[in-house]
Amino acid sequence: MDDSLMLMIPGPTPVPDPVLLAMAKPTIGHRSGDFSLIMKEVTENLKWLHQTQNDVLIVAGSGTSAMEAGIINFLSAGDRVLVGSNGKFGDRWAKVAKAYNLEVEVISTEWGQPLDPEPFREKLEADTEKQIKAVIITHSETSTGVLNDLETINRYVKTHGEALIMVDAVTSLGAISVPIDEWGLDVVASGSQKGYMIPPGLGFVSVSAKAWDAYETATLPKFYLDLGMYRKTAAKNSNPFTPPVNLFYGLQVALQMLKDEGLENIFSRHQRSKTAIREAVKALNLPTFASDDAASPAVTAVAPDRVDTEQIRSTMRKQFNIALAGGQDHLKGKIFRVGHLGFVGDRDILTCISALEATLQILGDTGFTPGAGVTAAAKVLG
Ligand SMILES: *Cc1c(COP(=O)(O)O)cnc(C)c1O
Repeated sequence: MDDSLMLMIPGPTPVPDPVLLAMAKPTIGHRSGDFSLIMKEVTENLKWLHQTQNDVLIVAGSGTSAMEAGIINFLSAGDRVLVGSNGKFGDRWAKVAKAYNLEVEVISTEWGQPLDPEPFREKLEADTEKQIKAVIITHSETSTGVLNDLETINRYVKTHGEALIMVDAVTSLGAISVPIDEWGLDVVASGSQKGYMIPPGLGFVSVSAKAWDAYETATLPKFYLDLGMYRKTAAKNSNPFTPPVNLFYGLQVALQMLKDEGLENIFSRHQRSKTAIREAVKALNLPTFASDDAASPAVTAVAPDRVDTEQIRSTMRKQFNIALAGGQDHLKGKIFRVGHLGFVGDRDILTCISALEATLQILGDTGFTPGAGVTAAAKVLG
């Protein structure tokens, strides 16, 4: 018997049946009145999810396209930017910024540790000439399961006054509160295959009035990802190019499901899943890679010291049809990552933990008490 694959990776995340069914509907023209209505509804609901009155624009592409759009629309070659990096995605934004000839200063912390806000404060305070044009931060660093202290770093950016704050919220949006208007976040990027509960293919960028001011004078080359065009057409419930129509059907249904659940419930569900996974893993005597006070709401990295990570992953996959993510770059073989983002509930958490216990037993591991993980998770979920 072949169970359906259970995605416990930090993207793509599980897609609910009503979303899949909606996407199976016949494709319609993207200039039709019917599509305009969908565009109008999803744009309104995206603002709700982003807790903002800012524009939230939709691009066809993965999360990286949304983030790249955020970087290239508001900056010019030679602009000085600070990029926080404590993992694969922070590194990526430094690469994108360098590819566009920005003057990049990377403020890094060891992978597994949260970014230290202090060097940001120091650099921003020292910049009396206001040369720093943007500070680019990955909120939830998916490669390590670390949640960065965006609120504090953003406060220093606000004190600076000139720099834009640009945020990769790909695995924080829809998992933990990212109060865009309250914090004054200028550019916030995310992608459909993470907290949105729909398949890969759409990127989302929220843009503040201050960022639009910067757009007026920004000179980096752009065409397909020129957000000005998306803003203009979105005002008429339309798109500059042919959007992935069927993904919009899915987005419409998924956003309605999220609205029905409510922001507070969504955030507390992710908090509960995160805590249950972490407590279970600890009860199995497996070290978590990130500390409790800097733990991502979306993904938990585990660094087993007595069992091979790749054996755990392949047994979970072959025996139980549960996909876990591996480590990236130098963390390959050192950690495995459990995604608990999007359409993931208590049953999924318990299933995953019990399968993990069974996997450890199959692999001959005797370093834990059978049942300890499930018991710890049940305690959190109960
Ligand atoms: C998944 C992810 C992205 C986007 O990656 P794509 O493959 O381009 O969708 C960006 N940042 C973080 C933190 C992510 O987890």
